[in-house]
Amino acid sequence: MKVTGDVYALDATKGNYAYLILSEEIILVDTGRPGQGKAILNELKSMNIKPEDIKHILITHHDIDHIGNLALLEEETGASIWASKEDIPYIYGEKNREGIKRFLSFIFRIKKPGKINPFPEDHKIGDISVIPTPGHTPGHVCLVYKDVLFAGDLVRTSKGQIEPMQSFINWDTDLSLESIKKVGYLPFKWICPAHGGPVKRNGEWNINM
Ligand SMILES: [Zn+2]
Repeated sequence: MKVTGDVYALDATKGNYAYLILSEEIILVDTGRPGQGKAILNELKSMNIKPEDIKHILITHHDIDHIGNLALLEEETGASIWASKEDIPYIYGEKNREGIKRFLSFIFRIKKPGKINPFPEDHKIGDISVIPTPGHTPGHVCLVYKDVLFAGDLVRTSKGQIEPMQSFINWDTDLSLESIKKVGYLPFKWICPAHGGPVKRNGEWNINM
């Protein structure tokens, strides 16, 4: 599904959207939940994009519904993988979350990717800016490309409205709410969250907190 300009939400990942950016280098934002890898590759094929055309895979945070096909897509595309240094140990399974998310990591024992690079010091990958937005996870990031904010799980949308994530799945909800406020100062026009659909920004960044 085209969002705007050269930004697409991958229909194969509906419910936990991964996004495709057709900038000078083709970039994938997140990789969906386990089992969606083949469908993602098929969708790329239907857009005349070869796996090896993907140059970078950027991970907003370590949750299973965002890294579910990372190892497969790394193998198929040969892309560089990027994530925050705080979240990388969770992706490799070297660190475990407490509570419900610990339980999830036992249910889904997914293949680990080979090499994950920490985001560069200058927070830039191609035309993308990496914005640290900790709270949902320790190293959660949002990404900005042109006038689009890729929100990961900083917020979600429901019936066209933007909402914070439920606090029981946040690592630190207070921190997440601070990150939401911080991001509001950025001049984006579109919000692309993983959960719910992309929405156009409507004036003020007013979220019912
Ligand atoms: Zn998620």
